[in-house]
Amino acid sequence: MEKNKLLVVEDNEVNLKLYMYMLKTIDAEILIARTGVEALEVIEKFKPSVIILDIQIPEIDGLEVARRVRKNLELKDITIIAVTAYSMVGDKEKILQSGCNYYVSKPIDTRKFPIIIERLLKGEQLDI
Ligand code: MN
Repeated sequence: MEKNKLLVVEDNEVNLKLYMYMLKTIDAEILIARTGVEALEVIEKFKPSVIILDIQIPEIDGLEVARRVRKNLELKDITIIAVTAYSMVGDKEKILQSGCNYYVSKPIDTRKFPIIIERLLKGEQLDI
């Protein structure tokens, strides 16, 4: 069976390193994108099964990336988990409306997060 692909979209190098550390034991091929434009290119080319999507990224923000993914029927089965520093009321709704399946706020819980990603890669539906 082909290995699952996991895309990490994050523009901050420190956060990116943290993700790589957290996800080092995950059984998936990890792809990286640092901007919205790069993310869309990688998504179309490699069709990852799960995307960890920072909402605040350069060029095209995470919400717009999610909207464009959802417009493409070929990509409809991709699971998107949004990560954001926003703490404003109403943001969660906005993020889910853009087409993201899940939402977590920074700071990331480094113990729970890899477990969440592992389960998403297995195609499980989570209550988070
Ligand atoms: Mn960011």
